[in-house]
Amino acid sequence: MKISPADDFTATVNIISDYDQHKKALLEYIEEVTTNAGEIQKRVLSEILYRNQHVEYLQRNGLNGHTDSETFKKMLPVITYEDLKPDIDRIISDGNTSSPSILCDQPISVLFCSSGTSSGVRKRIPMTEEDAERRYFFRSLVMPIVDQYIPGLDKGKVMYIMISVPQDKTPGGIGLSFSSTAFYKTSYFKDGFNNNPYNNYTCPIEAILCEDSSQSMYCQVLCGLYQNDQVLRLGAPFGSGMVSIVRFIQENWTSLCNDIRNGKIDNKKITDLLVRKAVSKLLRIKPNPKLADLIETECKRDESWKGIIPRLWPNAKYIESVVTGTMSQYIPYIEFYSNRLPIVCARYACSEVYCGINLNPLCQPDQVSYTLIPTMAYFEFLPIIRDQHNQQELVDLTAVKLRNEYELVVTTFTGLYRYRVGDVLRVAGFKNNAPQFNFMRRNNTLLSIDTEKTDEVELQNAVNVASSHLKKFLSASLVDYTSFADHHTTSSATPGHYVLYFELQWDKNNLSIFQTTVLEECCLLLEESLGAEYRECRVDKKLIGPLEIKIVETGTFDKLMAYAIREGSSVNQYKTPRCVKLAPIVQLLNSRVASNYFSPKSPQTSEI
Ligand code: AMP
Repeated sequence: MKISPADDFTATVNIISDYDQHKKALLEYIEEVTTNAGEIQKRVLSEILYRNQHVEYLQRNGLNGHTDSETFKKMLPVITYEDLKPDIDRIISDGNTSSPSILCDQPISVLFCSSGTSSGVRKRIPMTEEDAERRYFFRSLVMPIVDQYIPGLDKGKVMYIMISVPQDKTPGGIGLSFSSTAFYKTSYFKDGFNNNPYNNYTCPIEAILCEDSSQSMYCQVLCGLYQNDQVLRLGAPFGSGMVSIVRFIQENWTSLCNDIRNGKIDNKKITDLLVRKAVSKLLRIKPNPKLADLIETECKRDESWKGIIPRLWPNAKYIESVVTGTMSQYIPYIEFYSNRLPIVCARYACSEVYCGINLNPLCQPDQVSYTLIPTMAYFEFLPIIRDQHNQQELVDLTAVKLRNEYELVVTTFTGLYRYRVGDVLRVAGFKNNAPQFNFMRRNNTLLSIDTEKTDEVELQNAVNVASSHLKKFLSASLVDYTSFADHHTTSSATPGHYVLYFELQWDKNNLSIFQTTVLEECCLLLEESLGAEYRECRVDKKLIGPLEIKIVETGTFDKLMAYAIREGSSVNQYKTPRCVKLAPIVQLLNSRVASNYFSPKSPQTSEI
């Protein structure tokens, strides 16, 4: 069994001329690595430690060339990004000039900007040329799996929205990029464009590489609409992106239809000549009034836009987008707009490492599990035991227990050693000897006023309860939300309280006289759904004030995303922060509050 990515990758490229054989080889690869998961993990660790034996980090931690897991576990601490930050800062300032190298024997080709939205820390993750190959190989595992369930996808096209963000350089001369943007710029991606029958994208690569996100989006949607009957699948990396596509069409369908009707691209909208030329060439764009009429009719048909995706793309067989974790809140929207086309969550991947593949792509989103691919990195797992504050012993990939929860800890070929990714996973089953994980949440405390700690899942569950109440009594849908722990000032006598910012989609002309009552009930329901510690601090200790819901104007969360993107986030990797802390963001939200409501009484504690 090869664990060298270069060998794996060569295999991929060589076989590509006979794609059926290539698919078969990739499926066999999955069988083999999942069967030999334990053995492969040992070899991966020893290879990482062997080739990096001279790097400063391992020397500093006294590994002295040992490559066995016992010494590794004894000597190396389990760390977070914050622990690694001084080393990363040196790489940022010195580039690849340090001798010995700081983290990794190979030159750092680029530093990835992780979305790092939960902790608020902007992470910079080292990446090498070799790991780019490994990740490309990992990505190539997806389509052979999907093809087993939905054959014939190579006979049509895919409209998968990919947005690039301008790259930067560190003072030490290393490129700074989002992982998705860096991927679109690799030769593998460009070659795959031409060679792989499953990568038959509707738009030219110039539109994907265009760094003006609105021009890029416009061209990608235009190309997708222009070839609507050839599109067999649609997607965006995350569920939020899928919803953005529909919103974008809602705002732009008149110009999109005009362009299709007139057979030319709006010069004012698309000023990038290279992109305009590439799109015109690809589409050999000529007037298509029939298609423009069809799109116009569908966009005007009813206000709700229910089922708009299959109405515009009648041959689409599924949506590819990650809707696990906090992205699950977008499922109802995607199902509504797609008339419940299957949603395929293909992979679980981070800037730090590409981890897992969904081997059962047509399962329901809440059943999705990702099989960790043992050749990608050395994986360890920190058991999550609630209310247990002592650090637990880490366990290996093949030693995890069914239904237990763990935080993922990785040791990578790119110079991360026993690094806590911050994601909590639950063991859902096994593929041969490799565990399959449900993605649960980020392991972080979102909100805390006193001793209580509310995490992402507790908040999401409470919001789900409030959201059902809003739907039932006000026919309002929750478009997006975030939260803020309002501590007031330390000198203030009033206790701090939780603030939830809700953007709703509702018929404002038809406001119910019960609006205030229903929203106050939502505040109370949220409080009653939060953890016991919260209610204890709120009710018994009176250390937390009544929870507040602030309804923000339509479009506020788009503005929040625009702000993040102006500050350097990637559209592809952007995830709405479930808690905000930074003053400008809180100010932005507060400047758009239309009304606010407080919990009218104390929530019931579970003992009552
Ligand atoms: P980034 O480093 O910006 O690519 O973000 C990586 C993070 O996105 C991961 O650590 C997860 O928290 C989240 N993520 C990635 N893939 C998935 C997935 N399939 N399901 C849920 N969350 C995911």
